[in-house]
This record gives sequence, structure tokens and C-alpha cells, in this order.
Amino acid sequence: MKNIQGMKNDFPIFRHHPDLTYLDSAATALKPETVIDAVSGYYETLSTNVGRGLYPLAEETTARMEGTREKTARFIGADTEEVIFTHGTTESMNLLASVLADRVKRDDNIVVTAMEHHSNFLPWERLARERGAELRVIPLSADGSIDMEILRNHVGSETSIFAFPAVSNVLGTINPVAAFVREAKRLNPGILTIVDAAQAAGHVAIDVREWDCDFLAFSGHKMFGPTGVGILYGKRGILETLPPYQVGGGMVLDVYPNPPAAGRACASIYKDIPHRFEAGTPDIAAIIGFGAAIDFIGGIGGSAIREHEIGITRYALDRLRSSFGADITIYGPEKAEDRGGLVSFTLSGVHPHDLAQVLGEKNIAIRAGEHCAAPLHRALDIPATARVSFSVYTEEGDVDRLIDGMRDARKIFNI
Ligand code: PMP
Repeated sequence: MKNIQGMKNDFPIFRHHPDLTYLDSAATALKPETVIDAVSGYYETLSTNVGRGLYPLAEETTARMEGTREKTARFIGADTEEVIFTHGTTESMNLLASVLADRVKRDDNIVVTAMEHHSNFLPWERLARERGAELRVIPLSADGSIDMEILRNHVGSETSIFAFPAVSNVLGTINPVAAFVREAKRLNPGILTIVDAAQAAGHVAIDVREWDCDFLAFSGHKMFGPTGVGILYGKRGILETLPPYQVGGGMVLDVYPNPPAAGRACASIYKDIPHRFEAGTPDIAAIIGFGAAIDFIGGIGGSAIREHEIGITRYALDRLRSSFGADITIYGPEKAEDRGGLVSFTLSGVHPHDLAQVLGEKNIAIRAGEHCAAPLHRALDIPATARVSFSVYTEEGDVDRLIDGMRDARKIFNI
């Protein structure tokens, strides 16, 4: 395993906030210097638009953006044309719900899971409502996983879409994506499978060919990249049949005034994939910065990152359990190996929001609330959880400070 100690030095924020204990990487990962430099470097040295200009600076900007597309494709095992830039996972899912609308017929059903982030729930809930289809939510087992038998009871020949996360942002559960896709396609070969990989990208290896999912979405900012860039992967054969999401500049080859020229069926000729789905000026700086984020991950190595995250998660689970015993309830899989690098819990006697506030005053950043997963908290019958989440820069000392801070919080609340 590559030694990834001392990683904090790569992240300028720790120079500005040396006392920061950042345990909120699932909300957004901190940014390494190389990514920040790539963003500011674009504005300082290029600052031009993509896909339009015929002068060297604009051509260079286009090449950098397309270079990031190639890197992204390699990162997930896709073809370059199958990678669409959006502004985040949320936009990727809304884009899909829009362009797939016609595929959902009255009395079909759309299947999601009880561990969905709202971004992979609300677009499908709305689409089902608009199309007169049924939204089916797969309930979870006691350990926070999805039982294959229960999946089989929900997915069937009328299921047009099955959307689920690769990793839960609350429970940390790592779903067996390839097995879910295989089973869903066995139950209905015409089904469209959609994977929310927001908490997986940069943490666990993604291979869209091996997973065989039809679509996959994730956000750059959760994997050391800038905010404002998201990825939507789609299988080429399906993408080519879909209508554009937004129309406008950048996604069209030619436009004719109505009525169309003689012998032409439509007034405009759209570009091929992926540009057909990228109307308007993208967040160029973020996309270029995202390329640097992929390089940053490659420089450490995906398996070294995963090993570090398992190690720190195991340490956190052990310390939380041994320090608070029966007073802490930890949600999700028992073992660190079965989770992404995050732990959600409730501590008896201290509301998660109070805990987050007390810790915040000590410069310990954790998250409290529903984490955009209200259906999951309903299923668990709790109003909120506290969540700590880790990354390459998280050290055991950060977890030790968390434990001390939690002890102090209990004292404040006389527990
Ligand atoms: N899905 C999951 C599992 C997430 O954790 C998040 C971010 N919290 C999202 C979707 C939405 O990502 P974004 O806000 O970047 O669009």
C-alpha cells in the first residue's frame, strides 16, 4: 500500500485552518492544490470558450475539456462518447428523467430503494406521477442492505426503470451493482438500470462494462474536483436514441427556419452524442479542474485510497463502539470493508444537531440531519442522524478529536 500519510499537506485549506478536523467529505471533498491550480490556471492562461473559436487559445481550451472527457471515460471504463458533462449528479438524474419520459408508460412502475438520496428519488417520483406509473420503493434489511429476494418482489416485467445507489450516503452500504443489474435484466430484459455513483466515485472502483448498467451519474466535487461539474454516463446504443435535454448553442449542427427546407423532415440537425446533451457553455474551469482531480486520484491509486478509507472507518467504528457502548446506535453494515468511508449514528441524550453544533465550535466538522434522505430516516423511524465521513486526508487523530468532542458534548447535556 502506498503511504498516504501526510496528505493534509496537499490540501491548502489546512494551511488556512490548521485546527480543522474535517469529517464531512461525503458532503464535499476538500480540494488539493493541483485541482485549485488547474482551475485558476484556466482563468489565467486560457479563459476562452469551448467548441467555437478557431484561434489557438480556444482550440487549447476545447482540447483540455475533451481531454478530461477521455480521462473520465478511462476512469469508469466507458467510451469517450458515452461521457456527458452536467453540473452534478442532481442534474444528471433530472436530465435522465426528462429524456427517458417517453419510455415510461401508464401502469409501468419505476423502482428505487429506501436508501436513495433525494436526487435519485424525486426525479423518479415526479416522472412516475406525471406518466401515471407506480413508484415502488424497495425496503431495506435490518443491516441496511437490499435483499435480492425483496428486490425480486419489486422489479418485474412492468418495471421500466430501476434506479439505485452504488454506495449509500447515510448507511455507507456498498451495493453489489453488477448483481443488481444482472438480476433486474433477467427479470425484465427491457429495463433501464440507473446507478447513482455520487458516493462511489473516487472511493470504490467503477467499471461500467463490468457493472453493465445503462446509466451512471456522479459529481466532481465529491472526488476532489471543483463544484459545478457532474458526469452522466450512458450506453452509446441508448444515448443515440434519446432526444436532447436542453436545446440551444453547442448541441446543434445546423438550424433552419420553419418550415424546414424542401425535403427535410425537421428544422434542425442535432450533434451526435455526447455533445447533443450539452447545450450552452459548460463550467469549463470545473471540467478542467476535474481532470486534475482524476490525475490526483490516479497518483495515489484507487486501491490505496480504498485501503486507507477502510482503515480509518474501522478505527472510527471501533472507537465509537468502545467509547459509547450501548449509548450509540450505528447504522449500516457492521464491518468497515462493507461500507464506504462514512459512519452515521445517534448518541443517546444528544440530538444530532446539538452534537454537530458543539463539535462545530471546536472546529470539528460533521453533518447532522436527514442528509437528503428523508425516506431512509422515515424507514429507520428517526428524525436525524449524525454523520462522519472520511477521505485521504483523514487521520486517526481526527477521529480521536471527534471522540473527545462527543464526550464533552455529553457533559454539556449532563449525560
Ligand atoms: N446522490 C448521493 C448518494 C449523494 O450523496 C449526493 C450528494 N450528497 C447526490 C446524489 C447529489 O449530488 P450533487 O449535490 O452533487 O448533485
